[in-house]
Amino acid sequence: MAAVEAEAAVRELRDTYAAGKTKSFEWRISQLKAIQQILTLHSEEIIGALRSDLKKPEFEAVIHEISVVSASCKLALKELHRWMKPQKVKTTLITFPSSAKIVSEPFGVVLVISAWNFPFALSVDPVIGAIAAGNAVVLKPSENAPATSSLLAKLVGKYMDASAVKVVEGAVPQTTALLDQKWDKILYTGGSAVGRIVLTAAAKHLTPVILELGGKCPAVVDSKINLKVAARRIIAGKWGCNNGQACISPDYLITTKDFVSEVVNILSAELEKFFGEEPLQSKELSSIVNSHHFNRLVKLLDDDEVSGKIVCGGERDKSNLKIAPTIILGASKDSLVMKEEIFGPILPIITVDKIEECFGVINAMEKPLAAYLFTNDKKLEEKFVRSVSAGGMIINDTILHFLEAGIPFGGIGESGMGAYHGKFSFDAFSHKKPLLKRSFAIDISARYPPYTPGKRRFLRAVVQGTLFDILRSLATCW
Ligand code: NAD
Repeated sequence: MAAVEAEAAVRELRDTYAAGKTKSFEWRISQLKAIQQILTLHSEEIIGALRSDLKKPEFEAVIHEISVVSASCKLALKELHRWMKPQKVKTTLITFPSSAKIVSEPFGVVLVISAWNFPFALSVDPVIGAIAAGNAVVLKPSENAPATSSLLAKLVGKYMDASAVKVVEGAVPQTTALLDQKWDKILYTGGSAVGRIVLTAAAKHLTPVILELGGKCPAVVDSKINLKVAARRIIAGKWGCNNGQACISPDYLITTKDFVSEVVNILSAELEKFFGEEPLQSKELSSIVNSHHFNRLVKLLDDDEVSGKIVCGGERDKSNLKIAPTIILGASKDSLVMKEEIFGPILPIITVDKIEECFGVINAMEKPLAAYLFTNDKKLEEKFVRSVSAGGMIINDTILHFLEAGIPFGGIGESGMGAYHGKFSFDAFSHKKPLLKRSFAIDISARYPPYTPGKRRFLRAVVQGTLFDILRSLATCW
């Protein structure tokens, strides 16, 4: 049944795309305006769905989901005309006389598969890019955020052009059936195991893929900084961001042995200020998404390697799927918590003798999606930028790069491939078609056989581009 539905959806979208409907500026604008209307008229329902799926606090729902999508939509509406304009490029003597442009062409029919942790933003934000670029699109939201998934299906069905934009709900069978179809581009957000499945399926049709994956994001805390501000920013990026269930949340901290007790004390004090003495009762903390992930996180906490090393938090409430903000000090690199992406409210702290040793710790692991450094030391900062390869990087804060539309968002290596956000979303869903135009006016015979020594000299001079050589060889060419 899933296969038949997937096939039918793609067929309808292919017909719409082939008719040229999605390519017009007017259609793109109308669909972006439809998204704006969804945001304006249904924000309460969106907040409600996020509360139902994740107990996501309203503030986080507005800032991390609704505002992100709203800003992307506004930007696309404002800039679309400019983005769609072919971009002029200077040509060289090799093609003289000529003009060149880069034409942004939609890929065609694209698939967006999204994850549960930011189930609204991670679904709609890529769709904005796909539509702005003129594609027909199927969105497959995550089954692990069922309220948001069904709300998306309802609202997209009601407000958007159903012949070109569809939501297909479901779990593994539905995603598998979709992946069996031929797509012109796929953007997948989620874990790397499924990322490999997506890439394998795409390979069958040589479909280009953007993979937005995760990994272990380090945050390095140097001494001689404003530790209170640093601690608050770490908390905002970790527990204030879906209770750590965010791909760019700091996964672990690195600091020096001399400084670590100050770091733990200030983090613990600020945590108490934000979430109270009984954080399990706090309305400002998202719950864990489901019992599978709750049990996975509890296993990390109960690992013999870490259970005696909890210096803050550790409480859990199975019936409400809540885990308190938890700090672990001195977890070994062989503990489960240091071996896999945590994706939850647990923060291990690794200590080193000298802060420069952070490079060895970070670079011994896969390239992270984000890397953070808190320092006032310019040299350390420069070395961090130079030595750490990561999807994105922030000095003296966490997660905020996600909100900046002017910079691309994506991973590298195990944390993903490709990027989107702002204009990069438009580019991610556009083929950049080079268009070279020549005139019939000048047709230099040196290009054609027989390739006499004079012609060869001329072509070499053109390639090397020195005017003197060109003129000299021209003299011997004919
Ligand atoms: P998930 O369980 O929601 O799965 C993601 C998508 O994959 C869903 O739509 C699901 O239907 C599909 N899927 C699951 N199993 C499948 C299978 N066997 N075959 C085909 N499709 C399948 O999300 P998740 O994987 O638990 O997400 C968490 C991961 O995502 C973390 O690693 C996190 O770091 C990463 N993530 C990355 C970003 C980013 O922007 N880079 C954002 C959010 C999450």
